[in-house]
Amino acid sequence: MATAVSIKTRSGAPATVSPDAIDALRARLRGPLCLPGEPGYEQARTIWNAMIDRHPAAIIRAAGAADVIAGVRFAREHGLVLAVRGGGHNIAGNAVCEGGLMIDLTPMKSVRVDPSARTARVEPGVTLGEFDRETQAFALATPVGINSTTGIAGLTLGGGFGWLSRKYGLTIDNLLSADVVTAAGELVHASEKDNPDLFWAVRGGGGNFGVVTSFEYKLHAVGPQVLAGLIVHPFAKAKELLDGYRRFVAQAPDELTVWVVMRKAPPLPFLPAEVHGKEIFVLAACWCGDIEKGKKAIAPLEALGKPIANVIGPNPLAGWQTAFDPLLTPGSRNYWKSQNFTSIGDGLIDVLVESAGRLPSPECEIFLGHLAGAVNRVPAQATAYPHRNIEFIMNVHTRWSDKSQDKACIAWARELFDKTATHATGGVYVNFMPEDETQRVAKGAYGPNYDRLAKLKAKYDRDNLFRHNQNIDPAS
Ligand SMILES: Cc1cc2nc3c(=O)[nH]c(=O)nc-3n(C[C@H](O)[C@H](O)[C@H](O)COP(=O)(O)OP(=O)(O)OC[C@H]3O[C@@H](n4cnc5c(N)ncnc54)[C@H](O)[C@@H]3O)c2cc1C
Repeated sequence: MATAVSIKTRSGAPATVSPDAIDALRARLRGPLCLPGEPGYEQARTIWNAMIDRHPAAIIRAAGAADVIAGVRFAREHGLVLAVRGGGHNIAGNAVCEGGLMIDLTPMKSVRVDPSARTARVEPGVTLGEFDRETQAFALATPVGINSTTGIAGLTLGGGFGWLSRKYGLTIDNLLSADVVTAAGELVHASEKDNPDLFWAVRGGGGNFGVVTSFEYKLHAVGPQVLAGLIVHPFAKAKELLDGYRRFVAQAPDELTVWVVMRKAPPLPFLPAEVHGKEIFVLAACWCGDIEKGKKAIAPLEALGKPIANVIGPNPLAGWQTAFDPLLTPGSRNYWKSQNFTSIGDGLIDVLVESAGRLPSPECEIFLGHLAGAVNRVPAQATAYPHRNIEFIMNVHTRWSDKSQDKACIAWARELFDKTATHATGGVYVNFMPEDETQRVAKGAYGPNYDRLAKLKAKYDRDNLFRHNQNIDPAS
């Protein structure tokens, strides 16, 4: 027998849900309903970014679409704040709400690969590493992100990019269909053929349009080996190297992706001890085609400057996709700022190098991802994700462990963000936005696609049940 649960409503007013209603919800579910103090509650509410420490009134650990439908209907009927968790990695922390109902999708772990059709059906609790392990068993892959513990659900719904994107596009460019539980609590199928407007909206529109209970992806023949690794340089040469980098990637074929990371050296075994803890300039590269052709393509990059270390070589794709995991473990405090660039000009190089020379903690980094290629051959209005003209995306990845450093670390990130603004497009990848950037959603994250998204939001979620996200206001 449950006790009454105090719960936050969408109007902001506190309310009480009766023990009978809680019992009835529990009885309808296949997965557990966890109240504070019950087994599973702490695990479900704890997310990647330790800055976020919220306590939902109740958490449904969904076992399948039926549990999601029950949760959505319960939230709607009782007027509750509703949060949806995939892999729990989002920097803004919207996966977990204070006082409302949370639907935790992490128990939904199925990945079914069809090797002959080259497709995969994936449930929303799957992480990128789990997805890679299943698909790479058949030397198949689709572009996802660079940290294997990230959830495939949130990543896909925002766009999704990584080492394979220049060749095969964003994750959403490889999405064939999705099953979506709408605000009405109904399961609908979205694809180019079925509910095409909803299918358009979920390809970049985040969690605004419903809860996705199944994703279907197109797969490509990639791996199991790729040519990948790091070239580490002394930071003193950062300006010349950024100049060499921008020239090199301007000519790079789509198979090749090179990102820049500027940070303090972690104690990696291939780096000399005297470098540990000092600023370094890193070129991280991945070639996803024929290995011998890749060696020729990467050679001019390897010839830039005088590296401290070069560990580029054939590696299993699934292993390379975990290469950054040790630097991105959950439990640290994190704050991000992100900009999109169409080019890297001299002024931008000056700002980046100056800021990277005074990182406020040993875990902070500035990374520059190279996109373009197949990503930019999709028209800006073909999917909700609109940034099809950018070449580079910067993430100021501020990370530290002690609360007393919050102010200094956040101030450093904001200052760098402000100084890079004149070089940037003003657009932003929705999945890199921290919780204090709600003012960037309309123009920054969605720009030319915002009005259509707002109309579709009104069609699929007029009452804005799905508002605990980078929120799109329903058009009036
Ligand atoms: C260390 C790290 C590295 C990253 N690297 C990359 C990268 O290389 N490329 C890249 O593109 N992104 C990258 N990201 C960003 C990543 O795409 C986002 O953080 C993404 O939101 C993570 O998804 P999630 O399911 O883990 O997050 P969650 O926090 O669980 O979900 C984020 C939001 O998505 C919505 N949501 C989640 N699941 C569902 C669902 N099934 N149905 C409806 N709504 C849902 C909810 O609104 C939720 O608040 C990285 C993030 C981290 C922390």
